[in-house]
Amino acid sequence: MFENFAYADLPQDDEDLRPLVRQIAADAVVDLPMDQRARSWSGFDAAFSRKLGEAGLLGLTIPEQYGGGGRGPFARFVVVEELLAAGAPVAAHWIADRQSAPLILNFGTEEQRQFYIPRICRGEALFCIGMSEPGSGSDLASVTTKAERTKKGWRLNGQKIWTTNSLHSDYMIALVRTSGGAEDRHKGLSQLIVDLKLPGITIKPISDLTGDAHFAEVFFDDVDLSADALIGEEGAGWKQVVAELAFERSGPERIYSSIILLDSWIAHLREAGRSDDTTLSLVGEFMARLATLRGMSVACTALLAAGESPVVEASIIKDLGTSFEQDLPAAIANDLASHPDESANPELYRTLQYVSHIAPSFSLRGGTREILRGIIARGLGLR
Ligand SMILES: Cc1cc2nc3c(=O)[nH]c(=O)nc-3n(C[C@H](O)[C@H](O)[C@H](O)COP(=O)(O)OP(=O)(O)OC[C@H]3O[C@@H](n4cnc5c(N)ncnc54)[C@H](O)[C@@H]3O)c2cc1C
Repeated sequence: MFENFAYADLPQDDEDLRPLVRQIAADAVVDLPMDQRARSWSGFDAAFSRKLGEAGLLGLTIPEQYGGGGRGPFARFVVVEELLAAGAPVAAHWIADRQSAPLILNFGTEEQRQFYIPRICRGEALFCIGMSEPGSGSDLASVTTKAERTKKGWRLNGQKIWTTNSLHSDYMIALVRTSGGAEDRHKGLSQLIVDLKLPGITIKPISDLTGDAHFAEVFFDDVDLSADALIGEEGAGWKQVVAELAFERSGPERIYSSIILLDSWIAHLREAGRSDDTTLSLVGEFMARLATLRGMSVACTALLAAGESPVVEASIIKDLGTSFEQDLPAAIANDLASHPDESANPELYRTLQYVSHIAPSFSLRGGTREILRGIIARGLGLR
């Protein structure tokens, strides 16, 4: 297992992307307060995503013939790292760039590739993921949303939940049952591209603890889809979804969710002139954990670049990474509370409040901690 986390360097060609993406990200956040920057993952700004598309910073792993960068996972690592470090609003293109484009590239028809992928690379086609349902989250094979064949294509009925950005997206890639029942488990599942403007679709926002409503419930009531909505093979949805989840979990994004808070707190420590041993050891601990996680994430990217599917490695990084992201707000809150005489910028407190409220979701979204540990146990031959 350890050899899979071998130290890797980012290729210079890809490092060379940093100044461009850093400049574009800095311009996008110049007027945003820290607590807005901390919302990077859920910050929705379609104009910014189109700007990234124009600069050739979306679809980096997609072949040039479909409008992509024709590069590899290291290029995407650099861009994602810079965007999150700046707290840029990535939500509009986030899912399409990371999951939908590679999924359509790998499993879609040539027509689907030509229709969807160039628009994704320009930041013009926005996607959401319809996997979870009430009663089917971790147990994804039990989805009951159903698509039945009609003369013209498919008729869709059912409900999805927790669908991030469905309110603002153009399309959903939905995991649905096209044959059999929930008892058939992995058989009879398929993936369909659903145009969210079609009649019969109702989207109801759900507010989270912070009061933001970035995810929603999506209801399908006799929604008619054309035959070309099917991605890949009918009944192969499970295999495709497992491949898609590997894209979702293997990126560098699972270590940077609280990074704006960490930066703001360190800026505060500098301003307060605090350099006692307890403070330095806390900062040192965070930096050591971040440096280790980043090294592991680069190693995982090297496996992707070598054409492997690092499912177990990505699960380890997501589990450790989300623990790091969740420990930060609690430790920073303790630190500030134990220095009541120190004045701090109200933005730091607002950022702390936001990250403290949202942090429990870090180890849920994209697969829960327990599910990831099950995958790791299987990788070690324990299950
Ligand atoms: C911010 C956020 C955004 C999300 N965005 C999306 C999205 O865009 N699209 C989408 O489809 N979904 C999305 N989700 C849903 C997310 O993927 C699910 O919440 C997740 O898969 C867990 O499913 P569940 O909520 O039904 O919990 P459950 O599966 O009911 O799990 C409840 C608890 O039981 C544990 N558990 C379940 N099964 C096992 C087991 N076999 N062994 C041990 N423990 C187990 C879980 O780990 C968890 O702690 C999002 C969730 C969040 C928080």
